[in-house]
Amino acid sequence: MTLENKLSISHKQQASETKPFTEEELALLAIQDEKWMRVAIALASEAEALGEVPVGAVLVKDDKLIASGFNLSITEHDPSAHAEMQCIRAAGKILHNYRMLGATLYVTLEPCPMCAGAMIHSRIERVVFGAKDLKTGAAGSVINLLQDSHFNHQLTVDSGILAEECASQLSQFFKRRRDEKKALKKLLKQQSDLLLQKGKE
Ligand SMILES: [Zn+2]
Repeated sequence: MTLENKLSISHKQQASETKPFTEEELALLAIQDEKWMRVAIALASEAEALGEVPVGAVLVKDDKLIASGFNLSITEHDPSAHAEMQCIRAAGKILHNYRMLGATLYVTLEPCPMCAGAMIHSRIERVVFGAKDLKTGAAGSVINLLQDSHFNHQLTVDSGILAEECASQLSQFFKRRRDEKKALKKLLKQQSDLLLQKGKE
């Protein structure tokens, strides 16, 4: 956790309660954040094994896992099957409640507007994300829906937890997919060249 993150949590705590976090409490929170982000990274790998864009999420309360999810949009033919949505849906069934007060959602990639909307509806307290999403990020990169005072609920947002690891998991996936496409294109070209050659003979 960066000092900036620590300070943002510390300031929020100070605003809502009389007693700020102690150094020890902040250190413990940083350890917990890293631990849960590692679980989210492992879930992202499960998505990747299915050919999905590797994004994983966990919902946690009081350092206990409530639910988890990973991206399944291709498998499920469902544009709403993002890791966070899968996780929030599972949590609702487990909690028998669509409100997830006091919970923290860890996700390897910055949430999109759809997932940010679900987080506002479910009253999740805090979101911690790894890599930034400069194309569709709704937690500050493109827009900051999670902290917009026009809405009836705002979340604490912390970013940068294992960010390099989360980002490299995604970039390696996209590189591999580009390489596979290139290899397939090359193979198809070789086959068509061969057929043309045979036609001439
Ligand atoms: Zn999303």
